[in-house]
Amino acid sequence: MKRKRASARQTPPAPSERARRIAEHLATVVRIPTIAPDSPRALTDEEEETFASHRAALRDLYPGVFAAAETEQVGRAGLLMRVPGATSERPIVLMAHQDVVPVPEEWEAEGWEHAPFDGVIAEGRVHGRGTLDDKGALIVLLEALEELLAEGWSPARDVWLLFGGDEEQHGASAVEAVALLEERGVEPWFVLDEGGAVASGAFPGLTTPMAAIGASEKGILTLELIVEGLGGHASMPPRQSAPGILARALTEVEDNPFPVSMHDISVEMFEGVAPHLKGPMRAVLSRAERLRGPLARVLPRLGAELAAMVRTTAAITMLEGSPAQNVLATRAKATLNCRIAVGSTVAETVAHLEEAIDDERVKVLIVESSEPSPVSPTGDDVRWTALVDAVGASYPDAVTVPYVMMAASDARHVARIAPAVYRFSPLAMDKKQREAIHGPNENVEIASLERGVDFYRALLTGPVLA
Ligand SMILES: [Zn+2]
Repeated sequence: MKRKRASARQTPPAPSERARRIAEHLATVVRIPTIAPDSPRALTDEEEETFASHRAALRDLYPGVFAAAETEQVGRAGLLMRVPGATSERPIVLMAHQDVVPVPEEWEAEGWEHAPFDGVIAEGRVHGRGTLDDKGALIVLLEALEELLAEGWSPARDVWLLFGGDEEQHGASAVEAVALLEERGVEPWFVLDEGGAVASGAFPGLTTPMAAIGASEKGILTLELIVEGLGGHASMPPRQSAPGILARALTEVEDNPFPVSMHDISVEMFEGVAPHLKGPMRAVLSRAERLRGPLARVLPRLGAELAAMVRTTAAITMLEGSPAQNVLATRAKATLNCRIAVGSTVAETVAHLEEAIDDERVKVLIVESSEPSPVSPTGDDVRWTALVDAVGASYPDAVTVPYVMMAASDARHVARIAPAVYRFSPLAMDKKQREAIHGPNENVEIASLERGVDFYRALLTGPVLA
C-alpha cells in the first residue's frame, strides 16, 4: 500500500538550521538498530555492540550533557544520569527509551517507503523505526539540555535522566534504575516519560491539536485459560473436547464485558476539549461531570478506543490445541491480555472473568500482572500547570488535557517511588503517525522536533525546577 502524501499535505516550509541539526541527530541514532532484547537473558555480542554504539552516538552528539552529568549503565542497556543541581531536594526525572520494536524481515512487503533503519530525511520528516517511539523524544530532550547547558544554565535541583534499554520487553533496566534510586533515597518530585502526544484527529469533531498527557496508566493482566482433555484418536471424539470447552469459555468472556465507569481523569479530559467543539458534542461534554453515567454507557458503542477508556478490556490473543490434524487435544490453551481500568484491581479482574466463565474445567492461570498506576495530580497542581505552560510555549494552538494511558510504559515502574508521574512526548502525531508506531512508515516531522526541544526548554526553565 502506497501512501499519497502530496495530495493530503502541503509542502512544509524549509526547516531552520537548528531544525536540520536536530533532524540529523535523530537520523544518526535511528540508523543504530537498537531492537529491544527479549528478557530475561544476557545480551548477545551483537546486541551488546549495537547498544554500545548507540550510547557512544549519544555521547558524541551531546558532549555538554555528558560532561555535566554523572552517568552509569543500569541493567542490560539502560542509562541513568544525574545532572547535578544546586540541591538534591525534590529532584525531577526525565525518561525516554533507547530500544525499539523490530521490523519484519520483509519490511518492504509491510509497506515501508524508506528502509526502517536508514534514517532517511525527506518530505520535511525523519523516517524510520523509533522516530516517534521513542528516539524522537530522547533526542529532543537531550537537545534541549545541551542548548541550555551551552548557554550557562544549570538546574536549581537535580535532573535525573533515565533511558531504558528494554522498555519494549518489560523494562528490566528501568526496574533496576528505580531500585537504585530507591536505595539511594532519591524521591522524585516530578517524572515525565513517553505516553501521550500532540495529537490531531484524536477526538471526533476536534480540529485543534490535543496535547494529551497521561496522568495514569491502565494495569496489565495476562492470563492463560487451560482445559485438559483425554486425548485419543480423532475418529472417536468425546462429546465435549478440550477445545470445545475452551471455546465456550472464550465466548463467555466476550459476552460479559467488564462494567463501565468514567474516571475523574476522563471527565477532566472531556471538559477540557468541550470548549473547542461545536454543536451537541460541546453541550454534552461540557457537562461530563453530571453526565458521567450515561456517557460511560454510550462511549463503548462509538468504537473500541472509546470503549477501552471506560472499562477493563480482555483481548483473546494466543490459541493452542492439538499438534496434528488427526489427534485430539489433551490440552487446549488460550491467552487473555487484559488492560485494567484505573480504579479497578488485578483481583477484581480475575474474579469477573472466573464468574463469567463459570466452569471448573477451565483453569485460570496468571502469567503477568501489574495494578493500574496511581493517579498523578492535575488541575492547579504546579507540576501539571508547568506541563500545560510548556505545551503552550511550544504548541500554542494545542489544548492540553489529561488522560488515562492504555498502553504500558517504563513510567509504571517509577510510579512506586514518585507521587507525580506524567506520560507525554512533545511531538505532533496525526492519526497515520500514531498508527505507524510499532507498524510501517514510522516518521516524525522536523518542525515538530524543533517544537519538542522548545517544550523541554520551557519545562526545564519553568516551575518544576524553580
Ligand atoms: Zn515507547
